[in-house]
Amino acid sequence: MVDFSAYALDKRVAVVTGAGSGIGRATARLLADAGARVVCADVDGAAAERTAAEIDGVPAHVDVARREQVVDLIQGTADRHGRLDILCNIAGIIRTGLVVDVPEEDLDAVWAVNFKGTFHACQTAARIMCAQGSGAIVNTASGAVDSATPEIMSYSVSKAAVVQLTKNLAAEVGRYGVRVNAVAPGLVRTAMTSRHYLLPDGSIDEAARAAAEKPLKRMSPLGMIGEPEDIAHAVHYLVSDAARFVTGQILRPNGGVAMPW
Ligand code: NAD
Repeated sequence: MVDFSAYALDKRVAVVTGAGSGIGRATARLLADAGARVVCADVDGAAAERTAAEIDGVPAHVDVARREQVVDLIQGTADRHGRLDILCNIAGIIRTGLVVDVPEEDLDAVWAVNFKGTFHACQTAARIMCAQGSGAIVNTASGAVDSATPEIMSYSVSKAAVVQLTKNLAAEVGRYGVRVNAVAPGLVRTAMTSRHYLLPDGSIDEAARAAAEKPLKRMSPLGMIGEPEDIAHAVHYLVSDAARFVTGQILRPNGGVAMPW
């Protein structure tokens, strides 16, 4: 008989940021299915409440770009539940524009959410987890760190910094029983990547999306674009005891795409 007990998260206390949509929502659902008590944090408070209601979790209206809100989220969760076992930093934003055109405000906005939001959550959680003697953190990078995809420099820079943060923190906290890893997803169908194909009635122009996805599908040995659950399964693995020997790693659920540029 196969023993899946290493994947169980019974009674573990987890915080998932960006839980209101896409990869964060799928992750919150999967961790809850595995038995975790999940705090669903999002800057969109109504979306956080929707996800929390689906999984009997705890909603949290939090802007990860605000240091004090992040500290309250993480420290407050540990105080209320007596421990913090899992942190998944999934909240993220993107701005597009050529390097020569990028306004400083866009650079700052992306950096504040994607890097500093992840950093402040990691710093607060690592202090708690090290004192506790256990814990698992998963950050969200992107396939963008393996390429020079045009017009998303501010995003790629923030995600490259998340990769470095992940490696540095893993090296520092491993001796306290705390693991830190990241996922670097390829293209996944979520609100972030579907907004270009939004029709006035709020539905998706599937023909336009399929045309845009075609060249990427050709680059993938699997010939597919990801769904949020494909990334959530990777995150679940990394936070579970099945990955007890894994830290400082960047897992790339991306259909095998190797960016050509
Ligand atoms: P999404 O837009 O569906 O979800 C992102 C969530 O983060 C939203 O619910 C949003 O409200 C929340 N959020 C944004 N800013 C926030 C803030 N300041 N504080 C708290 N919450 C905030 O996008 P997604 O595709 O699910 O993206 C999730 C993560 O995966 C992001 O970090 C993204 O960069 C990364 N990623 C996505 C893809 C992809 O193809 N979709 C690929 C690689 C990496």
